[in-house]
Amino acid sequence: MIRVYFVGTGGGAPSPYRSLPSYLIRREGFYALFDCGEGTQRNLMEYRLGIMSIKLIGITHMHGDHVLGLPGLIQTMGLLDRKEPLYIMGPKAIKDFIERTSELTGFRAPFEIRFIDSYEDENIRIYKFPTCHTIESYGYIFEEKERKGLDVEKLRRDGINDWQILRELKAGKEVRFNGKTLKPEDYIIVKPAIRVAYTGDTSYCEKVIDSVKGVNLLLHDSTFLDEKDAREWGHSNAIDAATVAKQAEVKRLALIHISSRYRDTSQFVRLASRIFDKVFVPEDLSYYILDREP
Ligand SMILES: [Zn+2]
Ligand SMILES: [Zn+2]
Repeated sequence: MIRVYFVGTGGGAPSPYRSLPSYLIRREGFYALFDCGEGTQRNLMEYRLGIMSIKLIGITHMHGDHVLGLPGLIQTMGLLDRKEPLYIMGPKAIKDFIERTSELTGFRAPFEIRFIDSYEDENIRIYKFPTCHTIESYGYIFEEKERKGLDVEKLRRDGINDWQILRELKAGKEVRFNGKTLKPEDYIIVKPAIRVAYTGDTSYCEKVIDSVKGVNLLLHDSTFLDEKDAREWGHSNAIDAATVAKQAEVKRLALIHISSRYRDTSQFVRLASRIFDKVFVPEDLSYYILDREP
């Protein structure tokens, strides 16, 4: 099960209604934070999401609204005496940014910061994809890998409960049982991967469509409602975001990075749903749960 916390859903400047961009994706004890606008650590505390549990931070690009909360968050982790390494992904300048702010503010993290390009363990994969913004910029995919398990119901129906047979089948081997050959493919079910994509800032972008094909949840830039000049600013409007969601055949769309000029977002949903109807505008400090299909 994956939980996506919408920590800050605004963009550009904070407003009384929306904080600057930050999204936390949690799978069991693994916490990954994507972007860290100013105010993020305060919001995480309000959510009671332990900042020490964050293992990885992915930064989409170097614009201040996405990154100015990061030195403060790292400093707090240090003050709380973190020892575990912290993985950081992002554009080239991210390493310099962290090292320079640390130097100029006279703070040295008492833990190791590892700059990486992608992350993988036995359950999770996290990787970047390019987006169309005004500076070097990436989106992220957080994937809970597909999982194979035995079809317990079918095994019970066929009267198979010998653990050695179960082990062989699980290992993908054929087994003789009561004069029959049991084929592993008849007893193994594949639980599909769950994927969440976060675009950061982007205008309507073919590269994004290619990268987010079929994801379970897409968090897409929708800075503006229907302004035609969104693209010139390297951003999207609600129609662009819905068009990407439709073309990429995603399962659900969250419109994010809402400009501080809008308080009421009902028009965003109304407009986007003419193109793609599984759409919502998350509020700050709300979350969304994704579970594997049976
Ligand atoms: Zn932004
Ligand atoms: Zn930006």
